[in-house]
Amino acid sequence: MPSSRTEVAEKPPTALVRRARKINRILAETYPDAKAELDFTNPLELLVATVLSAQSTDKRVNMVTPELFRRYPDAAALASADRAELEELIRPTGFFRAKSDSLIRIGQALVERFDGEVPGNLEDLVTLPGVGRKTANVVLGNAFGVPGITVDTHFKRLSQRFGWTTSNDPDRIEAEVGALFPPKDWVMLCHHVIWHGRRCCHARRPACGACPVASLCPSYGEGPTDPEVAAKLIREPRG
Ligand code: SF4
Repeated sequence: MPSSRTEVAEKPPTALVRRARKINRILAETYPDAKAELDFTNPLELLVATVLSAQSTDKRVNMVTPELFRRYPDAAALASADRAELEELIRPTGFFRAKSDSLIRIGQALVERFDGEVPGNLEDLVTLPGVGRKTANVVLGNAFGVPGITVDTHFKRLSQRFGWTTSNDPDRIEAEVGALFPPKDWVMLCHHVIWHGRRCCHARRPACGACPVASLCPSYGEGPTDPEVAAKLIREPRG
């Protein structure tokens, strides 16, 4: 049966799938509050906040968005924003000129092509100025409940450390990790992994000795394994 042989060959090894799902279960128990750390109440707010979060922290973004959302409550308001005023409002998030430009152009595109509404599908979202797959997946997963995998810097690093992928390419990582989990788990998986990356499995000096998935991680030992030393590396960040 050549076709089923091909399917079997393309499937990830069962042991890898089992280990990956166990890691996700433990991370879910460890971080029961894991969710998007950007504050938002609708798809447009999440899209705006996600654009602002580039090269910034969620904490900093959450500081500027209440006033920003009050001043620009819809796509039409963003489209006709006063550039200098917008820049001043979002200045703390960095790269404020480029981000202002993106937000105004996104507002214009939404008004011109989508009746002022944020589209709920990947194909349309990535046609918006400055919106790539990563931003689109954040919005789809968290504001529309559409399964998607957000490959940010934490997700990429941890997927590699867990042995879920050897690739550096975000699209490839999205596909390879996606094959290990059912789509209904993708959005929460991203939150668990990203929270673990921010709190424990840091880029430099991961807290291996205090890590809840140490026994399942092929990269155990990349950071200090002494429990006391590792415990001091655990952070409780917002952003
Ligand atoms: S054992 Fe170390 S490398 Fe592996 S997930 Fe935990 S902190 Fe990260």
